[in-house]
Amino acid sequence: TTTTHLQEVGAKHVTKGLGRVAGDAVMVRGKGSWVEFEDGRRLLDFTTGIGVTNLGHCHPKVSKAAADQCLNLVHCQCSVAYHEPYLKLIEKLLPIMPDPSLDSFFFWNSGSEAVEGALKMARIYTGRKAIITMQGGYHGRTFGAMALTRSKTIFSEGSGPLMPSVFVASFPFWHQLSLPPSASEEEVIQKALYQLDLLFSQQINPQEVAAIVIEPVLGEGGYVPAPPAYLRSLREICDKHGIVLILDEVQSGFGRTGKYFASEHSGVRPDILVIAKGIANGFPLSAIVSRTDITDKLKPGIMGGTYAGNAVACAAAIACADVMKEERVLENVQQRSHELIGSLNQLRSRADVGPYILDVRGLGLMIGVEFASPSPISVYDPNTLAGAPKSLASRVAKRCLEKGVLILTTSIYEVVRFIPPLNISAEEMAKGIEIFTQAVEEVVK
Ligand code: PMP
Repeated sequence: TTTTHLQEVGAKHVTKGLGRVAGDAVMVRGKGSWVEFEDGRRLLDFTTGIGVTNLGHCHPKVSKAAADQCLNLVHCQCSVAYHEPYLKLIEKLLPIMPDPSLDSFFFWNSGSEAVEGALKMARIYTGRKAIITMQGGYHGRTFGAMALTRSKTIFSEGSGPLMPSVFVASFPFWHQLSLPPSASEEEVIQKALYQLDLLFSQQINPQEVAAIVIEPVLGEGGYVPAPPAYLRSLREICDKHGIVLILDEVQSGFGRTGKYFASEHSGVRPDILVIAKGIANGFPLSAIVSRTDITDKLKPGIMGGTYAGNAVACAAAIACADVMKEERVLENVQQRSHELIGSLNQLRSRADVGPYILDVRGLGLMIGVEFASPSPISVYDPNTLAGAPKSLASRVAKRCLEKGVLILTTSIYEVVRFIPPLNISAEEMAKGIEIFTQAVEEVVK
């Protein structure tokens, strides 16, 4: 294969600090569930830019709203004045918030920024310093967010020391708790809560904790929904000790799990909700949403940022909220999810490929498939990871790419994740599943 001029520019001048699943392929176009590369290849996009282009690439209504806004007002620094899309977006979001108490907004650009802003707010509100994060969690790559990120060592390798006063509890996930995949939900919850108890009695007094930060569905840590009963216990613990509960729904929010927010599956109300990604279908926008009594403690000037709540991004987000309703996107998520999970479970029950599939899990269209070892499953010890494969998931993802589906792995475990557009058609979903199935068959053969 020949290297194009642009690929040469990439090889020479793009930072080596970036990894890319599609290697040196150059994406030139996106439409709906499909993307095109410079070399003419057309692929089904099951990555959505990691849960961002939830309504498909270049949704006509979203793109038009952004284009119209571009001709009217592109930038209004939020510390200079209000702008229309900022306020209109708040009006659109208020009715879909998981709890009516979440009614105070600050818009930013990225998930990492919003996580850090949430930490700042929790510390100011409580007057406490300590933060509890979850082993396996991912909250971003800026310094404060990096201190909370515990999904892969590489994200902060060589960058420390990080923010102090961060304590780590185990996400309620069997791997993190040295339990077998067959462990019951009760066992997982019990062990995770016991560890949190130990943390409180051996490392940090809960009365000194400002916030607990958790993803209701672990994203970069392996696509694992937290059991609803665990989240409800966490809510009780936070209430008991005056700890701010921060739910990071950067990846799980905006319909990804079949409800607007994953927290709706458990009914747990966060004190601060962090959202980004799918909110604007590709335009950089994030939000910190909280109770007004929390933001009442903030002196004017504490929050801010040059591009925070950009007018074009807000206009796009307004259109996204409209499209979600008009096109009944949540219903589509539930239907497609049902088909996807059904097919994956069928694959898992097959005598030939089934033994290589350890787990199928997730909510809505945030679904993970965890593979076992290419050698017989009996040699794989989930307690020690001895005999665990180091490549099955990435080999399946690579084969999918060759066959026309762009798909990602996640976490240190052997997980392939499905994050297709929320409005993907039944035909496109079937096509993606067919290719994934062939890829698995070929890889384990
Ligand atoms: N939180 C979660 C749960 C995420 O998945 C991500 C991004 N993968 C972030 C925070 C960071 O967001 P960003 O990359 O926009 O900074």
